[in-house]
Amino acid sequence: MHTAVFPGERRIMLAEAPLPVPAAGEVLLRVRRTALCGSDTKPWVKGAKVTPGHEIFGIVEQPGHRLHGQRSLVYIPVFCGHCASCRLGDTHMCQTLSLLMGWDKPGGYAEYLAVPEQCLLPVPDDIEDDLAPLLLDTIGTTAHAVRFVMPLVPPAEPGAVLVTGAGPVGLGGIVALQNLGYRDIFVSDLKEERLALAESFGARRHPVGDATQKFRLIVECSGAHAARSLGMEIVAPRGVLVLVGENDNPWPVQENKAIRRKDFHMVRTFYFPVGDFAANVEWLRRDKTRYRRLVDTCFALPALPEMFARFAAGELVKPMLAFD
Ligand SMILES: [Zn+2]
Ligand SMILES: [Zn+2]
Repeated sequence: MHTAVFPGERRIMLAEAPLPVPAAGEVLLRVRRTALCGSDTKPWVKGAKVTPGHEIFGIVEQPGHRLHGQRSLVYIPVFCGHCASCRLGDTHMCQTLSLLMGWDKPGGYAEYLAVPEQCLLPVPDDIEDDLAPLLLDTIGTTAHAVRFVMPLVPPAEPGAVLVTGAGPVGLGGIVALQNLGYRDIFVSDLKEERLALAESFGARRHPVGDATQKFRLIVECSGAHAARSLGMEIVAPRGVLVLVGENDNPWPVQENKAIRRKDFHMVRTFYFPVGDFAANVEWLRRDKTRYRRLVDTCFALPALPEMFARFAAGELVKPMLAFD
């Protein structure tokens, strides 16, 4: 099969590799779409031991198996199903296994991968290939973040909400907030095209770095330390700052009065519980026109090195690698 290799230093090489051999409890998935994700800039820069790519949609290719031919997304946390977290439905925080597809096990920048059966999320036929990967990071992760903090800042109460970072996660966050009943949504980003897209989704602009307005809920999707630190200052008393964006670098925080002299919640969320999936499919189903606008382009594997560089430079919102 054809696969991509990430040796580091912003390079991607194309290679041939033997077909993966599924272990017990796994099936072979023929990849149809893998969405590019900002978090893949890490393996792009630093290199990866396994094939990256973690927003994966494909078709089970395991003749004779009951799942053969099943259109499926890959739920990336491999989970045991019986630890304390899994029993609570928190399959994204399994305490027995701590493996992510595309990070610790080979992912979707390849024609095939082996997937544990419990990580297959069946995709209904009316959800087209190009939209299916949005159900993972774009919809799943942001919907979970908002659902997790909702009891602390109920949608029916007054007060503005801010999304920082208008990439695919931030845009997904705007839709998640709207779907869960929030109004008065603001957005900040440095890129004009992204702000314009966010505006067309119904959010109002908030200047990056502005500390004059307070927000009862801030969904931080940029991963930028400046946005996180400012979020602590401009979150309203009793409000919530929820960190969704990722950042591997040390985060020095200069505490000041705006941070210290109030009660507020700072929350981290990760991915989503597998049980959220069915509700998220309904969101996508009834709002396809908007979600479709996030997908810039589909391209074939030979274009991955160039498209990834353009994506990392912020030129594209959610391009997809397609194997057709
Ligand atoms: Zn991702
Ligand atoms: Zn578990």
